[in-house]
Amino acid sequence: MSAVIGIDLGTTYSCIAFMDGQTPVVIPNLEGNNTTPSVVSFIPGGQHLVGLPALRQAISNPYNTIYSVKRLIGKKFNSPEMEQLRDKFPYRMIEAPNGDILIEAAGEIYTPQEISAFVLAYLKQCAENYLGTRVEEAVITVPAYFNDHQRQATKDSASICGLKVLRIINEPTAASLAYGFNTRKNGKVAVYDLGGGTFDITVLEIHDGIFHVLSTSGDTFLGGDDFDNRLIGWLLEEFKKEHGIDLSQDKFALQRIKEAAEKAKRELSFTPETEINLPFICSGPGGSLHIQKKINRAFFENLTRDLVENTLTICQKALKDAGLSASRLDEVILVGGQTRMPLVRQMVAEFFGRQPAARINPDEIVAIGAALQANIIKGSTRDLVLLLDVTPFSLGIETENGGFQKIIERNTTIPARKTMAFTTVENNQRRVRIHVLQGESPKAADNKSLATFELVGIDPAPAGVPQIDVTFEVDADGLLRVSARDVGTGREQKVEI
Ligand code: AMP
Repeated sequence: MSAVIGIDLGTTYSCIAFMDGQTPVVIPNLEGNNTTPSVVSFIPGGQHLVGLPALRQAISNPYNTIYSVKRLIGKKFNSPEMEQLRDKFPYRMIEAPNGDILIEAAGEIYTPQEISAFVLAYLKQCAENYLGTRVEEAVITVPAYFNDHQRQATKDSASICGLKVLRIINEPTAASLAYGFNTRKNGKVAVYDLGGGTFDITVLEIHDGIFHVLSTSGDTFLGGDDFDNRLIGWLLEEFKKEHGIDLSQDKFALQRIKEAAEKAKRELSFTPETEINLPFICSGPGGSLHIQKKINRAFFENLTRDLVENTLTICQKALKDAGLSASRLDEVILVGGQTRMPLVRQMVAEFFGRQPAARINPDEIVAIGAALQANIIKGSTRDLVLLLDVTPFSLGIETENGGFQKIIERNTTIPARKTMAFTTVENNQRRVRIHVLQGESPKAADNKSLATFELVGIDPAPAGVPQIDVTFEVDADGLLRVSARDVGTGREQKVEI
């Protein structure tokens, strides 16, 4: 006997759940907590810690304590987002020969997938302890806005630790599944998900157990960490003004400031004022220096209001894509720890013209949805529940003169398959190069390149005569396969991205 679980592999915290018959249950970790910090710390002796014990190492062992790896997964070392972000982490990153990111810790090199695999292995172990049986299969959630590389990398992490991924599903879709299962209400729902590192908004229609995603949008570089960074930036500036010392290069001090800022941020969700107290943060010419600052909620809200506004601009886009106005929605569900911030709740309520759904634990709902989906796939859920998710980006190929031809449009229901016919541009052209891209710009150069491959051996013919059928297929995990077929010769070339 082995069990299946749902895993919300979060940027900052992860959560696991399973279905006990028809009841979803969150599985506590080995310390008895329902959520586990997605942190791995390498300690002397070649060992590593995961979760809370790893998080506790962040100050004393900052170079070897790896967190927020979800922000790195599937990314290129020199991508514009990474250029912005690299210096914000105390641990060392290096560029892999293929341009990917590698992490150096305790003298070893790890891929982000391997770090995530340590977290997944720990979660698997927690589930096995709790359930008293082996756990070999799981549904894992990812932000809806994760691209193909990021989804594949998440799958790779699971296979490193011996977990078979039954399905990759989008976090907001999982949340709505859990919500819909619980309330059994029909209607149009928006899931606003502001986690540690990413923001997603998904608009769905729930009708008698069919969950139809109408649109999804988001930003993989907008989350709770950015709220922390605003406070950290302010504290560093103030310290510089007062003492003329730049603490941003002092990794130990920075880690303490980071922890204190995150803690203060959380407290400000419940109290109108808090204090940051960091004695002996560094030494100055006259002895030890300290940070002691009172911060009130209004001040913090002013520091971060534009971040919330950015999420609402993205909501606007998702509503437009779904062809709906905010007033047509029946419910708004908040997911992700950062939605505990009162300003977020208030601005979201104003934007959608309604109070968000009550009695939802934003930290657990995604894992519960994943567990539910695992049960559905295994055929153990009694009710009819059908999940119709969508592609977050348009997918297509580069055409002659640098154009971009969309083959599968953004927000198409998955699984999806579409074929488009192309031809040659030169007489006797024997090969065509297929450049696969994702994005919305009509110019290929503005979109994200996913893969390139060649179809060779086309029979000589005048330009425009051969028919090359290019087929795009997106599976239920949101992963893309592209094939090109020369209709004349029947030759085919495939690429899995
Ligand atoms: P998640 O990825 O959903 O686990 O969300 C984690 C993010 O939520 C982190 O940035 C946390 O700092 C943030 N968070 C957790 N609790 C609170 C809170 N009470 N108030 C504000 N932010 C919070």
